[in-house]
Amino acid sequence: MASLQQPSHQIADESEEARVSRLLTGLSVMAVLFLLGIGGKAWFAEHHTHAWVLWAFGAFVVANMLVYAQTGNRARQKGGLISIVGLLFGYLIITGGESNTGPLWFYVFPPLLFYLTDLKTGTAVLLFCVLIAVVVFQFPQLPFVTAEYSTDFKIRFFATLAFESIFCFVLEASRLNARKELMDMALAHKFAASTDELTGLSNRRDMHHRLNEELSRYQRSGHHFSVALIDLDLFKQINDRHGHDAGDQVLRDFAALMQSVIRQTDVAARWGGEEFLILLPDTSLLQALTLAERLRQRVSRHEFSFAGQAMPVTISAGVCSIAKTGSINELLKQADLHLYSAKESGRDRIAPRVRTQESGTALADN
Ligand code: GH3
Ligand code: MG
Ligand code: MG
Repeated sequence: MASLQQPSHQIADESEEARVSRLLTGLSVMAVLFLLGIGGKAWFAEHHTHAWVLWAFGAFVVANMLVYAQTGNRARQKGGLISIVGLLFGYLIITGGESNTGPLWFYVFPPLLFYLTDLKTGTAVLLFCVLIAVVVFQFPQLPFVTAEYSTDFKIRFFATLAFESIFCFVLEASRLNARKELMDMALAHKFAASTDELTGLSNRRDMHHRLNEELSRYQRSGHHFSVALIDLDLFKQINDRHGHDAGDQVLRDFAALMQSVIRQTDVAARWGGEEFLILLPDTSLLQALTLAERLRQRVSRHEFSFAGQAMPVTISAGVCSIAKTGSINELLKQADLHLYSAKESGRDRIAPRVRTQESGTALADN
């Protein structure tokens, strides 16, 4: 079977992850600046311990950025930042921060969490943090709790936080939904733009793209490649005798047969009508001729049928190697000329004919 390209959703995920990482780096820089500034303000207000704690959190954020710069590990960058921010907000709720306004920073958490993690993890982490806040609010006498909040504040804090969290959850869920729909559409569009509907093979446009890629590889590193241009013999007769649907079935069956004969790295395309093109990377002219001959024999032995009616099918093919030409246009022109000569000399054959040790006779190179 011909090789599949990297699925586009993987590519999209990769670029999304890279975007999130850049955003995290920006957020980290902002957080460090904030922590430096608010720490400085606390210092001048004579709240020295509070200032040191805020600066320490700033140092953790910087350390997290440095670890990411060293390792490039995005999952750890994300987890590190969420943990630091979670601890910082916990600290602000426990101590009340400046003038008991610490809990207000908690509102930053829900959108950040839902954006950075999946909805399940985000909800779990958020519920856990809210649980801690409830404990702190309800038991101000606990030894590590230094802040006390009014009942009005507590009610309003949880009510507004719940509203914000639900809103963030719904927005993120619909963002993910819309993103998935778009990616599915892009994938379907990409598939349709590069695939032949009838046979499921690459279409002509996709094959041109792959030929150009292979040419670049050849020019860069000298990897040879060959092509085989295949045409079904007297196909019009099949349509005329058995009907268009039978013709379509033969095209589908031939495509499947061809896929089973070529290697994984080879690419087969429907070049148009009843013509097909196989791209054979890292393949010499002789190897390509051998493959084309094997395919020809398999086709002539295969029992094509439609609605119980047998339809003998043969193919002719023109083969050419990039080493003989140097450009895609010339390569295709040569393959077409060879196909024409195969037809001229009686069909059900491969051209050019070259002498091989195996066959002893066969084909004379031209
Ligand atoms: P030759 O051996 O010289 O190639 O003869 P041929 O009959 O195969 O060549 P010709 O070009 O005269 O006819 C090709 C036929 O292929 C005509 C066209 O109707 C048929 N064809 C092209 N595309 C399709 C298709 O998608 N489905 C079907 N059923 N037939 C198709
Ligand atoms: Mg034909
Ligand atoms: Mg034709």
